[in-house]
Amino acid sequence: MSKTFVFKFGGASVKDATSIKNLHEIVFNRLRNNTIIVVSAMGKTTNALEEILNLKLEGKAYSSNSTKILDYHLRICEELFDTDSLIFPTVRNYFSQLERILDGNLTHENYDSFYDSVVSFGELVSSRIVQEYLCAKGLYCIWQDAREVIRTNSDFRFAKVDWKDTTKLCKNILESKLIQFPVITQGFIGADENGRTTTLGREGSDFTAAILAHGMRANAVIIWKDVDGVLNADPKRFPDSVKFDELDYKEAAELTYYGASVIHPKTIKPLANLSIPLYVKSFIHPDRSGTKIHHVHAINSVPCIVVKDEQILVSFKVTDFTFINESHIHSVYTELEKLKLRVNLLQTSAISISIVIEKESFKLEKLIQILRDQFEIRYNENLQLITVKNHNSSLMKELMQNKEVLLEQMTRTTFQILVKSPHL
Ligand code: ASP
Ligand code: MG
Repeated sequence: MSKTFVFKFGGASVKDATSIKNLHEIVFNRLRNNTIIVVSAMGKTTNALEEILNLKLEGKAYSSNSTKILDYHLRICEELFDTDSLIFPTVRNYFSQLERILDGNLTHENYDSFYDSVVSFGELVSSRIVQEYLCAKGLYCIWQDAREVIRTNSDFRFAKVDWKDTTKLCKNILESKLIQFPVITQGFIGADENGRTTTLGREGSDFTAAILAHGMRANAVIIWKDVDGVLNADPKRFPDSVKFDELDYKEAAELTYYGASVIHPKTIKPLANLSIPLYVKSFIHPDRSGTKIHHVHAINSVPCIVVKDEQILVSFKVTDFTFINESHIHSVYTELEKLKLRVNLLQTSAISISIVIEKESFKLEKLIQILRDQFEIRYNENLQLITVKNHNSSLMKELMQNKEVLLEQMTRTTFQILVKSPHL
């Protein structure tokens, strides 16, 4: 039986016509196996769609924003296709469906499900454009709606995968198609048992690639990125960063947990469970070796630095002369879970609980509203969380230089500091 490979192309690798031509080249040169191609929304489309939702929530006009997104896609198509190509009415049709959804009623209560039905258009349109282009170049491939294969629960925006159903659907739907042609599908999106669109969390397309690889018992996943592989720090912030040739699944998972944006945190587990190797490779230099993530026995001791921006420090202080106990932590965490807010750092003292969370529209206000009777709540925005694995004292000193540190936490292997963002 021939091998199955899953390729994943993120937003940056389909951001313009040149990038899509490059994608074609990469796929065309590697067609010896059954191939599943997972694509994300083009460039910053998901952010732009989120912005529309924010405007709508605030009752502001958003139609010029959606026209801009439509124009962006049409301009790309103009560079890739003849003027009479069917892709033009197809793209317009997606945008009129989107407009109809946006005409609906958006509230804080239905925000998460509304969000999923809107942002999913980024992936739907982009995968159609890429499919059409590959076909036009003679590389025939089948477009697959990911919502028919990835079955999730109804936890909108952070949907959990139903592994049993998804594996069955993968086999039933994809196997026969893959024998004939490569299959192209969308990252990030799925559907619940009622067919409602769900999403897997921001940057979730990597996870989609892993889910499909797991479902198909694939031989490898290749994530094509704008960097040479997994580096020990973001090269844009740390020019001296070094690339790992290989990395153990556990190590890679830990780095993603702290916010290394090179792979989505949930990607590793389904692959590690079946020992499917994950390659992170450069779409600019596709012949370079990249990083192979698999079972590696040697322990890595190279320091790794992960920086997360737009963090908020929230502190909850007890007001009634008691001390912080388990029930205080429980009530804070219960509300965080309801609001789907993830804690990146927790610290407690005698009279307060401090948490570090991501910036998310209206959720902090909600949290404060619910808990303000129990605690005196203060918060600080625009912070940066820096995590160092395998730290050493000179690196720590260097990182803390000229920074206002608000919080600090250290274990034997990991050092974390929360600082004021330097650019503000
Ligand atoms: N387009 C989605 C996002 O930007 C999913 C992805 O890029 O992986 O979050
Ligand atoms: Mg994206």
